[in-house]
Amino acid sequence: MAGHDFNAPRLYCEAPLASGTDVIVTPEQTNYLRNVLRLGVGDEIRIFNGVDGEWRAVISMVGKRACTLTAAEQIRGQSGGPDVHYLFAPLKRARLDYVVQKATELGVAAIRPVFTQHTVVHRVNLARMRANVIEAAEQCGVLRPPDVAEPAKLEMVVSAWQPERALVFADEGAEITDPLAALAKIGGRPAALLIGPEGGFSEAERDLLLRQDFTVRISLGPRIMRADTAAVAALALINVAIGDWQ
Ligand code: SAH
Repeated sequence: MAGHDFNAPRLYCEAPLASGTDVIVTPEQTNYLRNVLRLGVGDEIRIFNGVDGEWRAVISMVGKRACTLTAAEQIRGQSGGPDVHYLFAPLKRARLDYVVQKATELGVAAIRPVFTQHTVVHRVNLARMRANVIEAAEQCGVLRPPDVAEPAKLEMVVSAWQPERALVFADEGAEITDPLAALAKIGGRPAALLIGPEGGFSEAERDLLLRQDFTVRISLGPRIMRADTAAVAALALINVAIGDWQ
């Protein structure tokens, strides 16, 4: 992974990958291969599908609206990533694009929009979020693009929570203490991060979260950050706490 080449074109596809498999790419990917990268029959590209690792593939057919790639050999085995979900109150467009891309780069397994009392954005474009996930995964060599979940209300999310997953709750109202010491409470469990909206959590939400055994409350220090910055900072801390370098 250390040697990931950001310049090597990589495409995500949904087809199963094995040696000799033909993959027909979408019209958008065809446009990218033909008109942006100016590739043609015989040229090489890398492909991945989230389960079968990364493959070297050769362009075997180029049409106007579709190209066929033939998988040659696996160049990286499938790897997972931190078992961390990212939950957040949806943000306005540019910041939403940003957090979805950054959470993907930081290796999360799932992205879950959550509506809270002070959330100002009430509709999310899941297709746009998924497109951002795929683009970030293609660019950064992430082999497991995170799932993007349907949005849900915070109360519903809390009541349906699987208690074995620690829910790290970044709370601007928490006492300022060492976040890594607080995150040690995750232990070996799978984890999730919850970041509030620009308006912060309501007192009722804070109470609800603090009543649960599975929550781990953290402060991110003495400055209040925008929600997008807080997400990146907290995900990096969680990756450190759970030993993501191993
Ligand atoms: N309007 C709120 C700030 C919300 S910041 C206020 O003025 O108090 C948006 C979200 O980012 C917060 O809900 C929290 O999840 C996270 N966040 C920002 N700064 C933080 C900090 N210093 N500690 C913990 N979480 C923080």
